[in-house]
Order: sequence, then structure tokens, then C-alpha cells
Amino acid sequence: MEGSLMARDRVGLQDFVLLDNYTSESAFLENLRKRFHENLIYTYIGTLLVSVNPYKELGIYTKKQMDIYMGVNFFELPPHIYALADNVYRTMVSETNNHFILISGESGAGKTEASKKVLQFYAVSCPSTTLLHNIRDRLLLSNPVLEAFGNAKTLKNDNSSRFGKYMDIQFDHRGAAVGGHILSYLLEKSRVVHQNHGERNFHIFYQLVEGGEEDLLRWLGLERDCQKYRFLVQGQCAKVSSINDNSDWKTVRKALSVIEFSESDIEHLFAITASVLHLGNVHFEANFCGYASLNSCAEIHWLSKLLGILPAVLQEGLTHRKIEAKAEEVLSPFTVDHAIYARDALAKAIYGRTFTWLVNKINESLANRDSTRKTVIGLLDIYGFEVFQVNSFEQFCINYCNEKLQQLFIQLTLKSEQEEYEMEGIEWEPVPYFNNKIICDLVEEKHRGIISILDEECLRPGGATDMTFLEKLEENMCGHPHFVTHKLADPKTRKTLGRGEFRLLHYAGEVTYCVLGFLDKNNDLLYKNIKDVMHQSKNPIIRHCFPTTEPDSKRRPETVATQFKNSLAGLTEILMSKEPWYVRCLKPNEGKQSGRFDDVTVRHQVKYLGLMEHLRVRRAGFAYRRRYEVFLQRYKPLCPDTWPHWRGTAAEGVEKLVKYLGYKPNEYKLGRTKIFIRHPRTLFATEDAFDV
Ligand code: ATP
Ligand code: MG
Repeated sequence: MEGSLMARDRVGLQDFVLLDNYTSESAFLENLRKRFHENLIYTYIGTLLVSVNPYKELGIYTKKQMDIYMGVNFFELPPHIYALADNVYRTMVSETNNHFILISGESGAGKTEASKKVLQFYAVSCPSTTLLHNIRDRLLLSNPVLEAFGNAKTLKNDNSSRFGKYMDIQFDHRGAAVGGHILSYLLEKSRVVHQNHGERNFHIFYQLVEGGEEDLLRWLGLERDCQKYRFLVQGQCAKVSSINDNSDWKTVRKALSVIEFSESDIEHLFAITASVLHLGNVHFEANFCGYASLNSCAEIHWLSKLLGILPAVLQEGLTHRKIEAKAEEVLSPFTVDHAIYARDALAKAIYGRTFTWLVNKINESLANRDSTRKTVIGLLDIYGFEVFQVNSFEQFCINYCNEKLQQLFIQLTLKSEQEEYEMEGIEWEPVPYFNNKIICDLVEEKHRGIISILDEECLRPGGATDMTFLEKLEENMCGHPHFVTHKLADPKTRKTLGRGEFRLLHYAGEVTYCVLGFLDKNNDLLYKNIKDVMHQSKNPIIRHCFPTTEPDSKRRPETVATQFKNSLAGLTEILMSKEPWYVRCLKPNEGKQSGRFDDVTVRHQVKYLGLMEHLRVRRAGFAYRRRYEVFLQRYKPLCPDTWPHWRGTAAEGVEKLVKYLGYKPNEYKLGRTKIFIRHPRTLFATEDAFDV
């Protein structure tokens, strides 16, 4: 048991708020380490859950464990993700309001696993009827499908999310899970055509090739050998010991049927998956005029069959672009390099748009058709902060997204919490913290931020290159404390920076970005004639993904970075309207190893996640607060003076009530409009008084 003193020495404290030396980072780490070595990966800071990735199965996610945590007060059992999930759920049911759980941490820290555990908890433990069983299965099985198409092995994580995911789980008035809705954010499409050494393409390709039934592969024109496909071999690690593509295939296949994909949808989906592999093998040679000619009869044959497009039309689309000159359309042939570029752009577009189709299709299946009032719990699991040897546009977007989430966390906890005490007239010693708004602004500010400058270069006719983009950045960002380049750096730093690079001092550490490809990736250009070719497809998914007239086709489409920026602003809005809960995931070491707790690695994360500051605010602050009216309404039956009618002000009523209940003076504070309670235990005791 965790209770006794001796055991406490061994297993540490289950809530950092109880630490004597709560301002000491070493004491914080020591507590984490102790618990980690006892396989206790969860620790609270108040109601925030800190989780350290154990990199091994702990047997703590059984149905029995779920039953233990269901309906039990938060602090009465050892910390667990189920306790948090249960607490959120019960608050939602009793207060009929909306919540979200923000799961953050760097790549490989355990965010996706945590979000799956929460979903499983709700699916298994919430009340249900046979009718709703379907929805639960679909909610659960949407995960393997989306992971197959949206996750991949990277150097940081064998199952790294390469898209952002926000999922609303909808509950009816009885608290039964009745539906869901997923929003996806910027899939890392470039992975379809290029993988760095030691990394893989999206799982689904390997699953199909390794696990696909003989008949299916024959129908798709695929061989059971990943080495045959250019899009699968660049990272030179098609096989990964921690991944069983064969059995994962079976899971995905089954999941697709449960989520109500028709057999024809499934066939078309795999036809597209296979066609991306064939497209990767399309090969060009220079003809006698120096232009690209196709040298891939077999691939064209299969592409034509799978996409239902005439071979000649495909061939023309892959080697030419149409230029509209006055009233005429002229065909302009590609050089070999240009053709390769256009081929890759097509592969990325096909995969990216099919992914969007997939998310929409899953949403149709999760949709709750009953329009009665619902409350939701949102789950946010997004790609974590990442730093590689070479970092490109993708890392720039991913790390920017993490800055935004950190900003949200700061706003909702450190900043607003302290502002509220001030507003309510509660005595308060401010806790200083690093506000990363300055970095968010550096990236996203209108007209002046990096994204604006990038867009400007993308729009500038003639002469704009990745290097001119870098020069523009240097002109505009010179002197910014979080931005540096070779030219702007002091002599010592200069040695660590190449000429085509810029470095951002993120909240989570320095990242050096190579500008190569920024303009291209931000433009994400696909020639109109190849879009028209795709629209002729007999494959209904492809036809749907490439409509004849794209929305707003007259206007220049928004760039990738701007779209992403806007979608993150939308996400922030969604989250701000709900009650927040936090899971902060930590990585114990850089080697994906179990049993190793590397002090330096963990200390760094504790620092940048702002956990010490959070603890200080928590420790000095109040875990629970409610407006006087709400508090009085709920608890007035417990006191003869306030029940059934209280005639004074709500504030006076609450004062009477807490005196009667015997709250100790240091346990609560009365603000201007709210009561503040230091520890949830006090409140639990009050709740229990109803049962007496
Ligand atoms: P990314 O940002 O790259 O998507 P992530 O934070 O989502 O990273 P996960 O995929 O959740 O990371 O975790 C990485 C791996 O760590 C998992 O595949 C699993 O092997 C292990 N892991 C994470 N959490 C747990 C856990 N609670 N118990 C056991 N193993 C875990
Ligand atoms: Mg993940």
C-alpha cells in the first residue's frame, strides 16, 4: 500500500503538491524516479496527471483496474489515467458541461497510448444499451484505422502520429457514449514519397504488402516484397521488430468492416493505397528532345486499372502540363526532374486527400443521429515536439503546433489562474513563468511572422527561392531573441549553423531548420490538368477527392502553413469553450528503453513543460472554485440555516454553510464572487455528507 511511511519512502508521493521541498527541481525528479522504478508511472500535481513512459507492458489497463477506478473519488486511489478519465466524466455528468483532455509531451512520450486508454475507459465503463454497443466498437476501432494511415515509424517513435487528432466523445443525458467526431490536422504527406534513414512510410503500405491476402495482392498487382517499392525502401527499415504488420493488417481489415465501410469502399481504398506504390515505381527517361518519357508499362497498366483512367490519359498527365495561353491550351512537356516532381506531388495529393476522405467516412459512422442535448469530452492527441538531425517544413509546423498548445496551457493555468486570484481579491504572491507567446508571435504574427513572410515569398512572381525566403527572414527578424541564422549569429554560434538554415529557440529547446523545400511544401502545387485527369477516375473515392471545380478555384488557395495556422486557431477556440484537464507525458530516456530513467532527459522536459511553476501555483492556490450561487444551490440542503430557503446574499449563505460544515480557515477563501477551496478532499467530504 502507498499509505504507510516506509512504503512512502520507497514509492514516493503520489501528488507533488505534498512535497515538502516543492520548489526544488531535484526533489521533484527524485520523486518521479522513485516511482518510475517501482513501475508507478503516474503522479499528480493536483488534478494534472504526469505520466512517464515505461516502455513496457505494466498490466495496469485491465477491466478489473477500470472497475476499481470507476466512480471513486480522485485522490482515494493511486494516480492513474483512469482516475483522471473518471473524474472528468463524473464532473461532466453532474455539471452537464463540456470538457477536454489535453495530452502533451514530446514525440514518443506516450500521448497516443494515453488517449487510447481514456477512450477505452469510456467505451468499457460508461452505461450502455445494446443499441449503443455499435458506437463503442466504432469509437474504439477508429483508432487502428487512423493509425494505420496516419502513423509511421520515425527515429523517435515506432508508432509516431504524423497527423493531429482531436476527438469529441459525445454523451447523452444518462452519461452513455452515443457518438463521436474527429478533426484531423495537417498530415505529414511528404512521408509518402520520402523517408529519412531509419524511418518508414505510413504503416498501411507495409501492412498491405505483408498481410494482404494472395487474391487481393494479385488483384492490386502487388508483390509480397516491400523491397520492390521505391516508396517503401528509402529508410532501409521496412521490417521493425516492435511492429507486426501482418497481424496489424488483420486488425485494420476487421476494423474497417465494423466502422461500416462497404466492401466496395474497402476495395477502392486499397486500390488507391496500391496505386500510390505503383506510382512510386513510375520511371522516366529523357527522350531525344530532353523531355521526360515514361518507361513504366507495367506500372501504367496497374495504375490505369486501379484508378480507372485510360492509360494514354494518365501518361499525358504524368509527362505534360497544360498552359493556358490566350484562348488556347498548349501542352508543355516536362523535363525528367519536373516529371518526378509532378509524380511525387500527385502521390502526396492522392494519399492526403484519401486520408481526409477516410476521416470524414469515419465521422459518418460515429455520428449520433439523435439530436437531444449532448455533452462532450474532447481528447487532443497531436504530434509531439520533435528535433531531428535535419529539420524541415514538417518539423516547423509540428513544433509550432506544440508552441500553441503550450501557450494554451499557460493561458489556462498559470496566467488566468493568477489573474483570477487577483480579480477575486485573494492574497497572492505571483509565480513567475516563461510565457512562450513571444515565439508564437514570431511564427504567426500578421505581416511580420515567419508564416507571413513565407507566404509572401510563395506569392512573389519570379525569383523567389528558399534562400530569398531566408534573406527576408533575416531582414525582418534581426535581433529577435528567439531567432538566429548564420549571418545573424555571434561567431561562436555561427560555427553551428549552415548558410541555408535558421534556428528557433522554442520553449522546448533549440531547433535548426533547413530552408530547403519550404516554398514548395508551403505551395503544395498540383497542376490543374493532372487534377482533371484524376477527376475522370472510375474510382469513386478519387473522383470525390478531385472534384472538377475546387472550392474557390478562382482565388489562389491558401498555403499549407496558413491553412494550418487557421485550423489551430479554430482548435484553440473549440478548446477555450470547454473545461480543461491535462496529462503531461514524459519520456524517461532517448533510447526507447524500459527501466532507464535518464535524469538529464527528464529534467529538461520537466523544465520546459512548466511543471515546477504549475506545482508552485497549485501549491499556493486552490484546487476548486465555484461561484457562490452554484455552490450554495448544491450544498444548501446540508445546513439547517440555508435549507430550504436562504434569504440573504449567496456569499453570506456560503459563509454560513462552510462554518456549519466545519471548514478550517486555511482550507478555503472567500473571494468577491466565488468560494475557493484549497484541496479537493474538503469537497469530497462535503459530497459524502449527503450520504450520511
Ligand atoms: P508521437 O508524438 O510521436 O506521436 P506519442 O507521445 O504519441 O508520440 P506513443 O505512440 O503514445 O507516443 O508512445 C510511444 C511508445 O511508447 C508506444 O508505442 C509504446 O510502446 C510505449 N508506451 C507509451 N505509453 C505507454 C504505457 N502507458 N505503457 C506501456 N508502453 C507505453
Ligand atoms: Mg502519437
